[in-house]
Amino acid sequence: TTWDVSVRPVMLNEGQVVVLSFQDITALEDAGEMRRGFVANVSHEMRTPLTSLLGFIETLRGPARNDPEAQQRFLGIMEQEAGRMHNLVEDLLSLSRVEDQERMRPTGAVALDRLIGEVGEALAPVAAAAQVDLIYDLPQTKVEVLGDWGQLWQVVSNLVENAIKYGGDGAQVTVALTQPAHDPVLRASGVRLIVRDEGEGIAAHHIARLTDRFYRVDTHRSREIGGTGLGLAIVKHIINRHRGRLRIESQLGQGSVFTVILPTGAAAPAE
Ligand code: ADP
Repeated sequence: TTWDVSVRPVMLNEGQVVVLSFQDITALEDAGEMRRGFVANVSHEMRTPLTSLLGFIETLRGPARNDPEAQQRFLGIMEQEAGRMHNLVEDLLSLSRVEDQERMRPTGAVALDRLIGEVGEALAPVAAAAQVDLIYDLPQTKVEVLGDWGQLWQVVSNLVENAIKYGGDGAQVTVALTQPAHDPVLRASGVRLIVRDEGEGIAAHHIARLTDRFYRVDTHRSREIGGTGLGLAIVKHIINRHRGRLRIESQLGQGSVFTVILPTGAAAPAE
């Protein structure tokens, strides 16, 4: 994805924060080159686990033939590698599905407060394992948008999962929902879903590229965690389909704030 980026420094109580605004100008890019890059990336991502699987199969047939202890160990690694490929294929399918649907505005009524509660329940074990406190700041009233329940589920769970993964052990992750009558970004009524973590943060020059397919910030933590680098690309396409906006604000060492702004009015502005 190619972004047109504008940078605006803002002073907050905690210090200076840089706010970046993005405009997706991917459509202006050479589509052929994008496709070639994509195929190269997918092939590369598939090759690593496949090479490893083939290597272990050979070892199981040969040197480890009579070593049950080694066999169990290798099968464990093979399971992990196959799992990585499985996640990659699932993410690729999600991405291609949502890209196909991008022009079709979803029409279901989605209660975001309920959806956030359900995602929270599903991710509670993940948060507990990372010793992360999931904190909710939701309005008392029902908050509804026109949307696709499954896709908005994916957006919330991707953002919350990232906040848990990259948020640092033992920290807090806050999920908030506000409903401004007039959202200055949309210039219409909207809903803001805010996912905030206290993790390592993201350097400003990475922020504009986070929603690129396969883009991962190469920190010790993200290497350790592993992932497909497709999550935020999927999130961005789903938000586009809902005619919304994604804002990413971050400060190294302080944490990150991902804000999804979705229109609530029937006459939401098209891109
Ligand atoms: P994945 O998590 O599978 O690598 P994503 O597309 O979800 O892929 O995220 C892309 C990259 O953005 C991650 O690899 C990580 O480097 C960075 N990132 C995403 N969310 C956060 C966050 N909350 N804090 C710090 N870095 C993040």
